[in-house]
Amino acid sequence: MDSQWRQLAEWIAQSKRIVFFGGAGVSTESGIPDFRGAKGFYHQDREIPIERVLSIDFFETHPQAYWEWFAQENAREGVAPNAAHRFLAELEKRGSLSAVVTQNIDGLHQSAGSERVFELHGNWSRLLCTGCGRRFSIADFDEARAGTVPRCPSCASVVRPDIVFYGEMLGSGVLEGAVRAIADADMLIVAGTSLVVYPAAGLVDYYDGDRLVLMNATPTPYDSRANLVIREPVGKVFAELSRAV
Ligand code: NAD
Ligand code: ZN
Repeated sequence: MDSQWRQLAEWIAQSKRIVFFGGAGVSTESGIPDFRGAKGFYHQDREIPIERVLSIDFFETHPQAYWEWFAQENAREGVAPNAAHRFLAELEKRGSLSAVVTQNIDGLHQSAGSERVFELHGNWSRLLCTGCGRRFSIADFDEARAGTVPRCPSCASVVRPDIVFYGEMLGSGVLEGAVRAIADADMLIVAGTSLVVYPAAGLVDYYDGDRLVLMNATPTPYDSRANLVIREPVGKVFAELSRAV
């Protein structure tokens, strides 16, 4: 373990209100591509660009495109929490981590056992009816998992994922909770995010302590503000840390 990692392990051991703020890079080692990383969705040759499939105006007119994309994603084999998700859940149980704030919609933090998770962009396994608002789980709709638009059994309207599409506002309760947790944190670990998607990226500004760790494979606009920058894969770092802390 080099000196950077030792510093990280030391701060984690000393802190009582760690907040972890992550993005798509936290799940790449679980087998889900990110957007802007080397193998991300933005670099794939796609008929319809991903930012279009995930925008609200497009969903309203072409819900089929979203559900086909979801079915493809959902068919990935072996997607499971990695060492980062697991270690964060463990830190929460030990009482040293106060919250996970995530831009991801994959639910892997909860699968690993984390309880206090602010999902800024929602969760693709929770669904809701666009007509009557009735809530569902993805498990309720075999057709959605097969790529066909699910319809509400009560009112027959299109059922949508409970995610924040491009062009929609973030939920105010989730955002306020995340801001409070970050403002109150004694350590902030920001990982696997390019920090270019707003308003999520701006959350880093609410932290005013001196244990700001930025762990990302490629440079971010916030690197110069960090007290520690680590350019290693998040899962690998946390696997190592779980043996050391
Ligand atoms: P992004 O794709 O813009 O950036 C990911 C960053 O993580 C890149 O800078 C990349 O270099 C880095 N990275 C990738 N794998 C890494 C690893 N193993 N270790 C360290 N760094 C790694 O992602 P973003 O900033 O989260 O913004 C993308 C938006 O798309 C988010 O709002 C999110 O909601 C959504 N998204 C979610 C998922 C998911 O739920 N798993 C996947 C893709 C995109
Ligand atoms: Zn309905």
